[in-house]
Amino acid sequence: MDLGKLIQERIRDVDDYPKPGVLFKDITPLLADHVAFAGVVDTIVNHHGRGTVDKIVGIEARGFILAAPVAYHFGAGFVPVRKKGKLPSRTHEETYDLEYGTETIEIHVDAFEPGDRVLIVDDVLATGGTARAAAELVRRGGGEVVGLSVLLELTFLHGRDKLGNLDVHSLVTV
Ligand code: AMP
Repeated sequence: MDLGKLIQERIRDVDDYPKPGVLFKDITPLLADHVAFAGVVDTIVNHHGRGTVDKIVGIEARGFILAAPVAYHFGAGFVPVRKKGKLPSRTHEETYDLEYGTETIEIHVDAFEPGDRVLIVDDVLATGGTARAAAELVRRGGGEVVGLSVLLELTFLHGRDKLGNLDVHSLVTV
């Protein structure tokens, strides 16, 4: 079966989660299907090419699940971006607006060597606020953001528009 079709079949829509009015894209059925999961990882790695990236940044929490095997297959290191208060050592932090309220995410100040080429990986690109803040954290840490790979892009929220000329690679768009 075509990988794009398989991915779409394995992402479950959950109405009104985590709050009323949100259509949540649940990737757990995809992760449980080894063909779909491996296909996603291989597609991200092949899109960029082994050896082109030094570090993979995964965004808490579902981004970690995708970013770790991508890092392994790239031969790159893995760096977590976490919600405020979860990283144990010194951090840079970025705060950005959500639909209601704000969110703060952090990265360790020593996560990168100067000039490290960094690919950011997450499950869903929605409004783009999280990805933009993650890219800013990478730059503040001395890394060079070479791209963003997401499993699913919700194009009607125009997240790309927030990301300037960043190379945004989405496996499936809605
Ligand atoms: P945003 O900052 O609006 O682009 O939101 C992206 C982050 O929120 C990602 O880390 C996603 O995991 C999560 N997210 C946003 N909207 C959804 C959705 N409809 N379904 C699943 N995850 C979402």
